[in-house]
Amino acid sequence: MNKNNIFVIVTAFIMLVVMSCKQATHTNEKTNNVSDSISENASQSTNLKANSVAQIYAKHQIPVLCYHRISDGNKGDYTVSPATFSAHMKILADSGYHSISPDQLYGYLVYNKTLPAKPFIVSFDDSRVEHAEIAAPVLEKLGFRGAFFIMTITYNKKNYMTKDQIAGLAKAGHTVGLHSWDHTMVIKYKEAADWQKQVVEPKKKLEGITGKPVEYWADPNGVYDHKSVVELSKYFKLSFSLATKRDSLQPLQCIRRIIVPECSPEGLLKSMRRSFSR
Ligand SMILES: [Zn+2]
Repeated sequence: MNKNNIFVIVTAFIMLVVMSCKQATHTNEKTNNVSDSISENASQSTNLKANSVAQIYAKHQIPVLCYHRISDGNKGDYTVSPATFSAHMKILADSGYHSISPDQLYGYLVYNKTLPAKPFIVSFDDSRVEHAEIAAPVLEKLGFRGAFFIMTITYNKKNYMTKDQIAGLAKAGHTVGLHSWDHTMVIKYKEAADWQKQVVEPKKKLEGITGKPVEYWADPNGVYDHKSVVELSKYFKLSFSLATKRDSLQPLQCIRRIIVPECSPEGLLKSMRRSFSR
C-alpha cells in the first residue's frame, strides 16, 4: 500500500468518526426538546411492548407537586405566596431537578422510557388566573414546564384564566389537562349523562381551545374509587389524585401528588423525598 492510499483511508476514517459524533449530538438535542419527545412518544409507543399492570404499579413513583392559589392574601393549605412559589421552583432548579411532562411520565411508566435526572412534575388545579400570570412565567424562566388542570366552568370568569390564556399555556409547551366541568367529585358520576357533562363535553371543548388532545385528568378533591378509575381509563392516559393509597389494578389512573403548602424551599425538598421515597 503506497503513502497516498494510506492517506485516503485515514482521511475517510476521520470523516466517519466526525459524522457519527455530529449525529450523536443531534440525537441528544432532540431528546432534550420537550415537544419533539412528545411526538416521538406518540409514534414510537406503537412499536414498543407495554409493561404489565403489576410492573407499572411496582415502578418508582416520580414526585408530583400540586399547587392551587398563588397569592399574598387568603392564607391556608391551598395557597402559597408568589415569592414562596418562585423560591420553591428556584431550589428545584438549583438542586438539579428537571420538570417532566405527563407524556414523559406515561412513557416511563408504560414503556420504561428514560427520564432526565431528578425528574418531577409541577401541576396546578382549578384554572386560577395566577397560574398563567405568575406561575407559567416563573417556570419558563427556569426551563420548566407545568401541567395545568382546568375546570371548564371557569372560562373567562373573574380570577380565572381566559380561553386565550389556556391556549397560551399549551402553545408555550405546558400540558393542559381536565379537572371536570364544575369540580363535582368523580365518585358522584352515576349515569352516562354525568360522564358526558363532567368529562366528554369539557374534554372536547378544551381540545378545541388548545388544538391538542386532552389526555390527562386530575380528580376534583383528589377523590376516586375503583369504579371511577376504570371509567377514567377510557378517556385519559393518566389521572392524578392526591396522597392517597393507589389502586393496584389501575395504577395509571391514580398517580399520587402532594399539595404544596406555604413552606420553606428546604421543607419542600424534604417533603418530596419523604412522600415519594420508593
Ligand atoms: Zn380542584
